[in-house]
Amino acid sequence: MRIKRLLRTVLPVLMSFMFLVGSAPYAGAAPPATTTIRVGLRYTSNGSDVSSAWLTNFVGHGFYFGYFDSSRNFVQYPVDTAVNISSLNITISGSTIIVSNRATSETLYELDCSFNNPLAIMPIPGPGEKCVTWFDSVKYYGAFEFTALSNGYMQVVNVLNIDDYLKGVVPEEMMPYWPLEALKAQAMCARNYVVTHLNSHGSFDVCNTICCQVYGGLTKASTATDAAVEQTSGLFVRYNGEICQTYYHATNGGATESSGNVWMTQLPYLVGRIDEYDTTVYTGFDNWSYTYTADEITDILNSKGYYIGTVKSVTPTYTETGNIFSITFSDGNLSHTFSKSEARSILYSTMYGKYTYSQRFRITSASSSPTGLYINNGANSLNDINSVYAIGGKGDISKVASKGGIVSVLTGSGLRTVNASGSGVAQTGSSFIVTGSGWGHNVGMSQYGAKAMAEAGKTFDEIIKYYFSGVIIG
Ligand SMILES: [Zn+2]
Repeated sequence: MRIKRLLRTVLPVLMSFMFLVGSAPYAGAAPPATTTIRVGLRYTSNGSDVSSAWLTNFVGHGFYFGYFDSSRNFVQYPVDTAVNISSLNITISGSTIIVSNRATSETLYELDCSFNNPLAIMPIPGPGEKCVTWFDSVKYYGAFEFTALSNGYMQVVNVLNIDDYLKGVVPEEMMPYWPLEALKAQAMCARNYVVTHLNSHGSFDVCNTICCQVYGGLTKASTATDAAVEQTSGLFVRYNGEICQTYYHATNGGATESSGNVWMTQLPYLVGRIDEYDTTVYTGFDNWSYTYTADEITDILNSKGYYIGTVKSVTPTYTETGNIFSITFSDGNLSHTFSKSEARSILYSTMYGKYTYSQRFRITSASSSPTGLYINNGANSLNDINSVYAIGGKGDISKVASKGGIVSVLTGSGLRTVNASGSGVAQTGSSFIVTGSGWGHNVGMSQYGAKAMAEAGKTFDEIIKYYFSGVIIG
C-alpha cells in the first residue's frame, strides 16, 4: 500500500507541473473564450453532498492529483500513483479524502483537506483527445475538485472550460432538436449568464440545477447543441460594452416584462415588449385558468403568513404590456398588497392545486357582469377586452386580443394605449377567476419565442436583439 500524505505547507516546494485548463476568472468586459468555470455537482445546500464517489477516465486513462490555484490553473502534485489507473474510488474519513484504485481497493493517495484545501483530480487525456470522465453515471469534460466538508461529507465540483460547460447546458435548457439559430441564442444567454455569475455560489460559480442553469455534462449533448456553442464561441451579448444579464424564460404567453416590474432593478436592455412570436407556437402553457373561492384565497394568504379575514375584494394592477404588476387583497378592514414577482407567486398554491405559472395573468370576479365593449360617453369604463372584436376592411371579424389586455388606438395626438385591462379596478365577490398564459418570470428571452423566430428564418443575433433592447453581440 502506497500512502502519501502531503501537507499544504510543503506543497509549493514540491510543485513540478502546471497544466493550464483556463485563464483567470472574468474580471472585466472581455472574458476570454478559455474562461474556466467551476460547477457544483454535489454540495450541501441542495442535500447532494456525498461520502463516496468514483471517477472513470473514459477516453484516455489515468489521473493526476493537484489543486486549482487562484487563477484556476491546475497545479499537479508530484504524485504518480494513479497515472495508470483508469477508475478511482474517492471516500472521506474525518477531513481526509482518500483515493483508491476502484478495481483493487489499493489506496493511491490521501490528502488532509482541512483548512479549505480541496483535492483536484485531473484525468489524463489520450493522444490528441479531450478528456471525458464518468462521475456518478454521467460523463463530464474537465477536472473534478473534492472538498471535505465539516459535516463529514464531500463537495464535488466540475472544473472545466466555459464552452465545454455550455455544451452541457444548452441541451438541458432547450430541446436539442429545436432549430440551430434558437440553440445558438440559448448558448449566448447561457454564456452571458455564467460569466456574470462567477463566484456567486459559495465556493463555486454555478450549480447544476434550475437554480442557476441545468447542467448535465455530456448526457444530452448532440452535434447540433455542440455546434450552437462552437459557432458562438467567444461571443457575448453586450450593452454599452458591458456583458449583459441575459435572463431567459420558457414562454411569456404574449409579452416579456421589464426587469424592474418583476425584480428590484431595472436594466436598460431588459424592457418589456409584446411578443409576436411566443404565442405562435404550442407551449403547453398557452392558456391556463383557475377559479379561486374567496375562502381559498383567504386560506392561501393565511397559510403563507399574511393574516386576513375572508377576502372581499381583489384589486390587480397591470403593466404597460398587460402583465400582472400588483395584487391587493382586502377583507374590508385589513389588506395586503403583493407586487412584481410576489404578485406572480402569491396565489401559487400546491395546497389547492391552483397555479399562476407566469407574470402574465388577469384576475376578475366570477360574478362581474359580462364583459364587452361599451359605446358610451365615458361614464362607464371597459373593464375587459376579451370580448372586443374588430371588423376589418374586407368585412372579416377578428378578436382584438386574446392575451394581454392592451389595445392601442389612434387619437388626434397619435397612438395611445388604452388601459382596458381592468388595472386598478377592485374585483368583488365570492370567487375570482385567474386566466393566464406562459411559464416563467417573463424577463428577457422567451425560449419558445426564440424557437418560433428561428422557424420563421430569424438568426440568433436577430433573436437576441429582439429580446434584449439596444444590445450588440461581440
Ligand atoms: Zn445555483
